[in-house]
Amino acid sequence: MAKKKNQKKTPKSKVRPLLSRPGAQYTCFGDGLCCTDIHGLGPITKPELVQLRKLDKEAGGYSEDFEDYMLGTAADGGCTFLMPDQKCAVHAQFGPEHKPDGCRRFPLGLVATPGGGRITTEHRCPCRTLGKRPDLDVDEVAQSLVDRGGRIYADRRIGRLKLDKSKPISFSQWVEIETELLAQLERGVAPSAVIDAQPFPEISGNTWKNLAEEFIEAKDGTQFGVAIAWFGEAIRWLTQGKTPRPPGRPWTDAFDRAERRSPKRTAAELFSDWIADEIWSLKWSEHAHFARARADLATRLEIAEAITQHLVGLSVREDRAAAEALLIVEVVGDSDHWTDVRSNMKVKKTRALN
Ligand code: SF4
Repeated sequence: MAKKKNQKKTPKSKVRPLLSRPGAQYTCFGDGLCCTDIHGLGPITKPELVQLRKLDKEAGGYSEDFEDYMLGTAADGGCTFLMPDQKCAVHAQFGPEHKPDGCRRFPLGLVATPGGGRITTEHRCPCRTLGKRPDLDVDEVAQSLVDRGGRIYADRRIGRLKLDKSKPISFSQWVEIETELLAQLERGVAPSAVIDAQPFPEISGNTWKNLAEEFIEAKDGTQFGVAIAWFGEAIRWLTQGKTPRPPGRPWTDAFDRAERRSPKRTAAELFSDWIADEIWSLKWSEHAHFARARADLATRLEIAEAITQHLVGLSVREDRAAAEALLIVEVVGDSDHWTDVRSNMKVKKTRALN
């Protein structure tokens, strides 16, 4: 189809230069959580699987759930190659370059934007949330972001950006808005005030009461089942005032290790850091528009704060409680259960951003 004469082209997304969010801190402490069923272990390529099967026939295989090749897990939910000391057998025997690409990358990611490749980090990992971590070193982490041929590659590319259903914006307009939001977080403004959206908006065709029950009933004997049931308990607490009866605490071993190595931080610091990375990663642009992302983040932030409050009431250290809560809201937030909820959130037009 012919383009209108004056129609501006969206600038092309690129992976260079590599950019890190000012203030982002991360190093791998080997807490071992990333090598467990906090997420699907993969995907891996077929050639990677062939190589790994030479080490262990149970290395992995094709997963109908993920529709891809994935690493296998042992009965405790850990990867087949995860050793009792939380080290990777592939890494230990053959060096880090022999690990599947996805293993070398997590919790890092790369999103290609018109300004360059933004390095992103996942907060489900206590190496990202707990303890004293150095500023993220672009040159160092670049080695985790390359393929086997040494080329940097992006996990995602930015397309059109929209503030709300009817308000497209250019990338440079977005950068201006984002810079102000990140500056507010840096100045210590509460993340809920920076997001400035109503948590628990109306849901098309459903209610928060039903959703809380659905999430609680999704408990299935796995660690993820515990996480989603906790999420449901928190929704019920916040929307109906019913005191939670938590189903347990998922993946606590890794948090035990992380707590032992970590000087204390405040929960507010962890939440602020998470929201800053959610904004910086531009993950929100996959969910239609920023107005929807604000409603989603306001809701999951409130859930994370409630879980933290409950755990602190049980004498759990504040930063650990917040890190466990962030794990829960991140893994549930990335699941199909939440994708449906988010896409049915009734979101009004964007209120003016501060
Ligand atoms: S292959 Fe190694 S790094 Fe990858 S998930 Fe398994 S234990 Fe972890």
